Amino acid sequence: MIKVEKDFEKRLIEFRHHLHKFPELSYHEFKTTKEIIGWFERLGLPPVNLDLETGAVFDIVGEHPGPVIALRADIDALPMQEDNVSPYRSSVDGVMHACGHDMHTTALLGAGALLLKNRDLIKGTVRLLFQPAEEVATGAKYVCEKGALDGVDAIFGFHNIPTLPLGTIGIKSGGLMAGVDRFEVVFHGRGGHAGVPHKTIDPIIIAAEYVTNIQSIISRRINLFDNAAISVTHIEGGSTWNIIPDHATIEGTVRTFQKGSRKIIPLMMKKYAYGIAEANDGYADFHWEGLHPVVDNDPTFRKPLEDLTLELGYKPVEAKPSSGGEDFSFYQEQIPGFFVFIGVEGSEPWHSPIYNMKDSALKIAVEFLANVPLAISNHEMFRDKINIE
Ligand SMILES: [Zn+2]
Ligand SMILES: [Zn+2]
Repeated sequence: MIKVEKDFEKRLIEFRHHLHKFPELSYHEFKTTKEIIGWFERLGLPPVNLDLETGAVFDIVGEHPGPVIALRADIDALPMQEDNVSPYRSSVDGVMHACGHDMHTTALLGAGALLLKNRDLIKGTVRLLFQPAEEVATGAKYVCEKGALDGVDAIFGFHNIPTLPLGTIGIKSGGLMAGVDRFEVVFHGRGGHAGVPHKTIDPIIIAAEYVTNIQSIISRRINLFDNAAISVTHIEGGSTWNIIPDHATIEGTVRTFQKGSRKIIPLMMKKYAYGIAEANDGYADFHWEGLHPVVDNDPTFRKPLEDLTLELGYKPVEAKPSSGGEDFSFYQEQIPGFFVFIGVEGSEPWHSPIYNMKDSALKIAVEFLANVPLAISNHEMFRDKINIE
């Protein structure tokens, strides 16, 4: 079992404050990347050469055969002004670590340093994946295209969560964070005089019918015990009070927690768009933009992670799902993985201008991350990788 010593904890807290003071936006994490590479260079570990603009990947090769387990931390900040008054508040105007990715980065730096010292405990290889650009939903895809997941057998990661107390880790099988997608539908009709509606094909009527009818997809197509939401957030049509326009546009988002729901909802929404438009003699263009898949945790990792949490002296709790998205899901579409919530006992939600966390949460995250590969490499999924001799 790898634990964090007091001195090291102090150093890590200072490092987190330093990162917090100098936040960088998605794909502009140049100084952060330099800090990460510098940290491991001092420990004699060069990055894996993946030609990343920002972000970095390191392999810690253990002394025993086994699987390749990736640990992932996201490193970017948000385009917002910090309103905290701490001595380490952001020194960059309009940029803030308001999602706690400074803590994720530092936790993985800490775990990496401890794993390097304990290669004799590692079965297989631990891949440290410092991912850029989570906040714009494309960083995971970017590093995968560069080969960050090549040869990796399973992946683990966490998000800090202000609503859980210190010492608790939220663990949940299946859908943890929502699938997030965007849609846009343009309804085409025939414009004309508002006083002679029978000579027109009114796209406003079509759009209105559509907005109310698609809610039946949730109530009648999605299992009562699953969760999903369709939100129309933007509707536009016409320019004045006495002219029926020739088209109307609606836009919105869909949130899902099951892969099946994420498949059926766009199919049904498209059918409704075409069907309702056709019943009114108009037609529809339906656009679907898939953003985040569902953060879908492999249930077979649950027990070993719960046991690990207990062994470390912390408390596993059932995590409440979040309707926000997280591009960790992109990795889980390719290989098995598990994402947890580590309690930081903050008073504000993610992305608040006064977002904060308890410093002592960092140690818990470091200990959890460092021990995950040790606990998981014994999983039966990797049995033939461990017994090579
Ligand atoms: Zn965020
Ligand atoms: Zn985040």
